[in-house]
Amino acid sequence: MQKGPSSGETVSCLVVGAGIAGLMAARELQRQGVSVLVLDKSRGVGGRMATRRFGGGVFDHGTQYFAPSSPWFQSRIAEWIDDGIAREWFRVRAYELDPRFLSAARYRGCPAMTSIPKAIAAGIDVRTGHRVVNIRERNGAWEAETDSGMQFHGSGCILTPPVPQVLELLDASGFPVPSREHGILTGLVYESCITVMAVCADRPTLPENGVLEFERGILRRIMDNTRKGISPDVHAVTIHAMGDFSAGHFDDDTEDLLRMIFAEAQPIIETAVRESQVHRWRYSQVVQPHQDPLLLLHDAPALAVAGDAFGANGVEGAARSGMEAARSILQRLPS
Ligand SMILES: Cc1cc2nc3c(=O)[nH]c(=O)nc-3n(C[C@H](O)[C@H](O)[C@H](O)COP(=O)(O)OP(=O)(O)OC[C@H]3O[C@@H](n4cnc5c(N)ncnc54)[C@H](O)[C@@H]3O)c2cc1C
Repeated sequence: MQKGPSSGETVSCLVVGAGIAGLMAARELQRQGVSVLVLDKSRGVGGRMATRRFGGGVFDHGTQYFAPSSPWFQSRIAEWIDDGIAREWFRVRAYELDPRFLSAARYRGCPAMTSIPKAIAAGIDVRTGHRVVNIRERNGAWEAETDSGMQFHGSGCILTPPVPQVLELLDASGFPVPSREHGILTGLVYESCITVMAVCADRPTLPENGVLEFERGILRRIMDNTRKGISPDVHAVTIHAMGDFSAGHFDDDTEDLLRMIFAEAQPIIETAVRESQVHRWRYSQVVQPHQDPLLLLHDAPALAVAGDAFGANGVEGAARSGMEAARSILQRLPS
């Protein structure tokens, strides 16, 4: 997946971000015979489709599950199942069925959530550990500069970080975002999510599928990664806090967060916690995505913004947005 980094390379399209949107974009571009390079600031691929391991446990700590609301995504899920990287986790009951979804089934990554982005990234030139800090037009192409001072060039470019991070990057680059597009980008609001992962002494008291969701209070959901089937050796629980609680306590001390969250969770799961970690997602999910699946910021050379803030939110929206951004860029690449 990863080649040795070298500065000054030119490809047809640069993609910033190796979450599901960036990877789907890169895969589509490559399928169409276009050279592509993906840059991501993190150590691994997947972005918010994230899995962490500690204390013998395996924790999906970002996306928990996904479900299709379109035949297009239903086909992607079927492919992932055939490839052995996704499987059904549970089915919602008929009275809980949200009419937006085509199926009652909720799916997970296999063996865990990051398996899906890792499999899509195979065969794509993805460079992790490269934070893009500047993007500028140079000689009719885009030049992306990373925090280590490397420069990469693309005839087109797709930006897929969460929108506030895209705006920070464009601002730091002195890129003049047109006022209509600036208004759209600044209007996209994300919820935060404080996540606690806990290695438990015993099987937690939770419903048989391992998911307990709340409508009020400070907890949004508790998930048992062992009942989910991804943490076979150790009882491993993921707890997501509500968006308003997460925003209000985002910078709190870790010990204070653990105390407040376990005060709510422990009487429910009824087991001692042996070890725990906290992850703070500043941008977890978009409240209301923009109606279109991408936003074109510049025509020639082409520059597009994509991700889960465009078209629809969640894994499906991000994947679809990446695909659509690739198709839009393909039409605009110099022949
Ligand atoms: C706690 C939580 C629970 C969720 N639950 C669900 C769920 O149950 N179902 C569902 O469908 N969705 C869920 N989601 C949302 C889902 O995970 C996202 O919608 C989807 O993964 C977004 O994909 P993306 O590619 O658009 O963005 P991301 O996955 O955020 O990818 C963006 C990438 O850009 C990289 N990046 C950022 N800035 C730079 C830079 N300057 N240079 C280089 N790289 C950069 C990041 O490292 C990241 O890898 C959840 C998310 C969270 C956090």
